[in-house]
Amino acid sequence: MNKNQITVLARVLQRELLPEEVAKLQSFIEEISLGNSQTNLTAIPKEQIFERHILDSAYLVPLLTADSPRSLIDVGTGAGIPGIPISILLPKLSVTLVDSSLRKVDFLVRTGTKLGLKNVQCLHGRAEELSHDSDHRERYSFCTARGLRALPQLLELCTGLVEVGGTIFAMKSQDLADEAHSLANLLPELALRKNEDSLYVLEPSRYHAILTFEKLAPLSPHLPRTWKKISRS
Ligand code: SAH
Repeated sequence: MNKNQITVLARVLQRELLPEEVAKLQSFIEEISLGNSQTNLTAIPKEQIFERHILDSAYLVPLLTADSPRSLIDVGTGAGIPGIPISILLPKLSVTLVDSSLRKVDFLVRTGTKLGLKNVQCLHGRAEELSHDSDHRERYSFCTARGLRALPQLLELCTGLVEVGGTIFAMKSQDLADEAHSLANLLPELALRKNEDSLYVLEPSRYHAILTFEKLAPLSPHLPRTWKKISRS
């Protein structure tokens, strides 16, 4: 990361960065880039990793601050986005990274060890199945998801993991109008309420949004459905 990138990041975080944070973020960029050349981990060229992965993830950090230690689950984390940058920038937060691809989870385990990320756990599994496991059901204060399916499906995959009073942050980059208006009937069923969105511009004229949903009550025990059913609706 160059000086200019560190300044932009500090502005988003609303604080200065510590040298060890810069070093860890830099190592993470190296690991992704190495992973890309070996296994085609993400489609993003090295010079764009800072902006598309690190900076984009950093926009969540000011939304996650809380007094008491809390937990976050990043569903469909892929190469660890946004979960790994968040875990580096918020070392007191317990961060669980979940992906259904074993190849990606292997990368996450290796990277977590290499970077010495003590607040990170990696899980190989499907969100809709973990949601019915009492070790994970309604256990997390925050859930993040970027690049995971259409919004109604994303919300069904995530809501079972979030505790009552917790929050889902869905990161979206395309035009949101279509996805958001289909939610009216779905939200009460998923025990969710939509709160205010955060909008920001990451690249010139490329709007990104963090859609925020609060968990209002325990989820009905038959939800979430199997992926076969979710994907058909
Ligand atoms: N969040 C990352 C990756 C997005 S790609 C990023 O923004 O770069 C979506 C990822 O979700 C893939 O790695 C895929 O394996 C994973 N995924 C898809 N469905 C899932 C499910 N039901 N449970 C857990 N992971 C899932």
